[in-house]
Amino acid sequence: MARKFFVGGNWKCNGTTEEVKRIATTLNEAEVPSEDVVEVVVSPPFVFLTVVKSLLRSDFHVAAQNCWVRKGGAFTGEISAEMLVNLGIPWVIIGHSERRALLNESNEFVGDKVAYALSRGLKVIACIGETLEQRESGSTMAVVAAQTKAITEKVTNWENVVLAYEPVWAIGTGKVATPAQAQEVHCELRKWLHDNVGAEVAASTRIIYGGSVNGANCKELAAQPDVDGFLVGGASLKPEFIDIIEAAA
Ligand code: PGA
Repeated sequence: MARKFFVGGNWKCNGTTEEVKRIATTLNEAEVPSEDVVEVVVSPPFVFLTVVKSLLRSDFHVAAQNCWVRKGGAFTGEISAEMLVNLGIPWVIIGHSERRALLNESNEFVGDKVAYALSRGLKVIACIGETLEQRESGSTMAVVAAQTKAITEKVTNWENVVLAYEPVWAIGTGKVATPAQAQEVHCELRKWLHDNVGAEVAASTRIIYGGSVNGANCKELAAQPDVDGFLVGGASLKPEFIDIIEAAA
């Protein structure tokens, strides 16, 4: 099954009203491959979601960077999946390594969140990835398999899931994984999905790479057979995000 190239822009905790409007304008003016070739989703902070959604061209979509693990209620400071649906936000990023590390989000909690968001009708970019210490000790695959297993235990329908492999040592560091390193993990992950979930899910689920992707390194990464797109942090705030979208062609 053909997997449409996916490019996500994770704006993290950045931006002012003026800046997000400026980024949206730059994206609106860009000449990029059509929606049949590439799916583009940008993820501003919660407070800018509606303004970006209202300004952005119709072939680009928006994602929240997180949502609450169950139905809303007495959870001060949280944003529920229901609220995102109510605002017409189609996507949410779940399990980003910054949240796993800084806010102690466990594999199980991330699995519960992915399942709940999907049950409400959101599409999910689910993030996984090993630390440098884990890579150096040879446990990369064990770590990403455990993170993925916590999701597969709760999720049966994978149609609306994009899996983002983001090695923690590559995020925001300028140390991008080599195309071979990315391909190796993506290929292993696909095998893992094949053996533990099923052949069809393995063949159709997009596995995207994240961690210091930029305009200069995206083409070679995109050429890897199991790299189905990117989740871009720093470079998604800059005009070079357009070059990364073009890597789909
Ligand atoms: P980076 O971030 O591109 O700035 O490394 C990627 C991410 O955290 O999704």
